[in-house]
Amino acid sequence: MPAAGLRKRHQSEGRDLTRPESPEPLPFPLYDNHAHLEFEDGHEQLDPSDSLDRAAAVGVRGIVQVGTDLETSRWSAQLAEHDPRVLAAVALHPNEAPKLFAQGQLSAHLSEISRLAAQPCVRAVGETGLDFFRTGEDGRDAQIESFETHIEIARANKIALQIHDRDAHDEVVATLKRVGAPDKTVFHCFSGDATLARICNENGWYMSFSGTATFKNAPALREALSVARPELVLAETDSPFLTPEPFRGRPNAPYLLPYTVRRMAEALGEDLAEVCARIAANTERVYGSWDPAEAAA
Ligand SMILES: [Zn+2]
Repeated sequence: MPAAGLRKRHQSEGRDLTRPESPEPLPFPLYDNHAHLEFEDGHEQLDPSDSLDRAAAVGVRGIVQVGTDLETSRWSAQLAEHDPRVLAAVALHPNEAPKLFAQGQLSAHLSEISRLAAQPCVRAVGETGLDFFRTGEDGRDAQIESFETHIEIARANKIALQIHDRDAHDEVVATLKRVGAPDKTVFHCFSGDATLARICNENGWYMSFSGTATFKNAPALREALSVARPELVLAETDSPFLTPEPFRGRPNAPYLLPYTVRRMAEALGEDLAEVCARIAANTERVYGSWDPAEAAA
């Protein structure tokens, strides 16, 4: 498959690079709504197709493959076109926007994202948003301009918006309200507390929980999960990053999502199969069907 050509390497220093074993399969199949399969990681390489096979074997039946720049966005769309288990999200990452702006390239790249977003296998604009952790004051205007344009692209194409929000909760919320949030707005790798979860509840914004929800030092995140309206909860790996406990720091991939979902069900005190079925239904509501025949109908 031509899309397999692009591979990136995740930072490997000081980490245990053995892949965790597969979890017990989930009782009801669901989706990983945020992954980066272009990254290679660990001693044992998994190409996108192997990774998806391994995920399907434990009940993760499909993924949203997420771009962070033009190259990975094109790759994501191409992979989605070739593999029915994949839908694509396309965007320029908030940490890319200031660099592109400085090079005078931001508007040209945004036009290309807008073009890619019109393809049927592209069901989200993301990941976009604001990152005040890695980008300082001087990059903020470019980040905000880029984020606003991504919001408009999602609305124009009537597809979902996947938000990267790092240390920027208030400004993300203010920007969504100022520009007008798309109907399907998702906080990817939700990192807020109960207060932000209530704001999401009021606005009908989705909260996608990642491996961080399993971390011992994350009780505020699990509290946010219990506050979140059940119909707004999604799950993701953000692989190869944010590997769930008990494998934190090791290579992550969509087949490890069940560890996070089990911890979510435990935190909610709910039946695992019910939680899985709800996450699956929520995910299809946001991105549409993974089945090409149904999607065309
Ligand atoms: Zn990501």
